[in-house]
Amino acid sequence: MMATRGPLQLTLALFKPDITRVPHVVQAIRNRIIQEDFFVVRHKEVRLSRQDTEQFYEEHRGKFFYNRLVTFMSSGPSQALILAHEDAIKHWRALMGPTKVYKTKYEAPDTIRGMYGLTDTRNSTHGSDAEETAAREMKFFFPEFCQEDWYRVEEDRFRKGQVRLDEVKFMHNLF
Ligand code: ADP
Ligand code: MG
Repeated sequence: MMATRGPLQLTLALFKPDITRVPHVVQAIRNRIIQEDFFVVRHKEVRLSRQDTEQFYEEHRGKFFYNRLVTFMSSGPSQALILAHEDAIKHWRALMGPTKVYKTKYEAPDTIRGMYGLTDTRNSTHGSDAEETAAREMKFFFPEFCQEDWYRVEEDRFRKGQVRLDEVKFMHNLF
């Protein structure tokens, strides 16, 4: 655990259905998240319906891969996480690697998508791409989570490291 940390940012991460069915890959990605000093602020397993997925990926409606994307994303369970880190949005996307797996396997082989991605669609993980999308996506998966309250009440204590990892729930709790 780092001794001192700057202001934390929140982002929404998703383990997609291609990896949730492979427990050792889930564990490896979890280890990577902890190694990179992310805090896991919320975590839950979710099963997205086709309609949920269409809503989540609304921005991509009409693209050539849209139909295969929503079919894939509603094909099995996912795990949704709210992650905290300095510059969490960029940091998580850097750890995931670029979208397109076939290319990423050569260009960024150490990233999550480079290591575990199967195809350009089945690419292991999702990460919000900006603050506004992070806010919308956190609301989508964790409607009861209030970002403002978290920053007001908890951010400072997370930053000071007053947290403990619950390995079973894979979530950090304040102590
Ligand atoms: P990212 O997930 O990196 O933010 P996008 O928002 O562009 O990428 O796309 C959303 C998801 O749609 C991707 O993660 C991937 O699952 C799928 N996708 C994107 N581009 C392609 C493509 N060219 N071919 C197949 N699937 C794609
Ligand atoms: Mg995106």
